[in-house]
Amino acid sequence: MSVDPSSLRLVTYPDPVLRKRAAEIPAVTDEVRGVATRMIEIMYAEEGIGLAAPQVGVPWRMFVVDVPAKEAGEGEAAGSPPTSTGGPRVYINPVLVEPAGGMEPFEEGCLSLPEIRGDVNRPPVITIEALDAEGRRVRETAGGLLARCWQHEMDHLDGVLIIDRMTQMSRLRVRSKLRDLERSR
Ligand code: ZN
Repeated sequence: MSVDPSSLRLVTYPDPVLRKRAAEIPAVTDEVRGVATRMIEIMYAEEGIGLAAPQVGVPWRMFVVDVPAKEAGEGEAAGSPPTSTGGPRVYINPVLVEPAGGMEPFEEGCLSLPEIRGDVNRPPVITIEALDAEGRRVRETAGGLLARCWQHEMDHLDGVLIIDRMTQMSRLRVRSKLRDLERSR
């Protein structure tokens, strides 16, 4: 698949590309970097903190994240894992390492599901292994909003959306908005 980055646009539910399992990226080429750069532009234009390649119609295992410290909240304890990125980051062929411990609820939204927000339970701390935009292997651990964001974007690479993971209460609350999105196609 050859991709022209300038042609990429945000894709919204129920576009079928959002339900596909994305494919591994065989090599971190200039084409891959071009798509990542365009994804970062779109993420900023849409005022999001993360964006996965399927959300711009590209079925590749890659996402971009920029969680500002002020969004992640103050009062990070010394020695605890970071909750923000301090700039845009690219994760290619990411893998999440299963954490120990329980799940926490937090309200999530998604650029591909306009006006839909709901509580999703996820582990509060997580470790990621991936390649960066230079093709270097990285391994990082995060908490708070950054850990949340990694897991949300990772789901997109497997065709999973927040509407699949929301609590029963949230699912009921967004039901009519979701139907509107399905009808608007
Ligand atoms: Zn999303």
